[in-house]
Amino acid sequence: MKNKNFAAVYPGSFDPPTNGHIDIITRASHLFPRVIVAVTQNHNKNHMFSLKERVGLLKESVKRLPNVKVVSFEGLLADYLSKINSFVLIRGLRAISDFEYEFQLALMNRNLNKKIETVFLMPDQAYTFLSSSMVKEIAALGGKTKDFVPPCVEKKLNSNKKRG
Ligand code: ADP
Repeated sequence: MKNKNFAAVYPGSFDPPTNGHIDIITRASHLFPRVIVAVTQNHNKNHMFSLKERVGLLKESVKRLPNVKVVSFEGLLADYLSKINSFVLIRGLRAISDFEYEFQLALMNRNLNKKIETVFLMPDQAYTFLSSSMVKEIAALGGKTKDFVPPCVEKKLNSNKKRG
């Protein structure tokens, strides 16, 4: 690496952050000097948590990792990467089912800016079945989410449940 202080960017909607996301962030924090978790405001998705809430939950969940920063951004990821002069993207691959979408996204980002390289990390096996949408479904049906999400996320899901 030319710049020893460079940052890799892990983008996603994180609605809500799960233990699978935290596993990927932790692995990336061991591999790269700095990791920026970039929380997207995806207008196509109906979010359970606001952008501010998702950023807050992630900050709380990664506070033990000193080289990880959590930010939010709007617009095109390729533009954001150019703005901060970082060209390494991290994405998580759980199963073959993720591959097609992630492959398209990686090539599209490279098309938008040829400097962008996407690095795929695999989570611990225990998290390969885990997704934010599954966590939301379990919470909505009154199930326990303790084993799937960081404690602050579980607390938030439970308080949302009480408010109805
Ligand atoms: P997006 O809307 O960008 O797909 P997500 O928050 O769903 O945002 O996912 C962000 C990234 O994290 C994606 O690369 C996704 O494949 C990965 N990811 C999501 N859940 C897990 C998990 N349980 N284990 C590993 N990677 C995951």
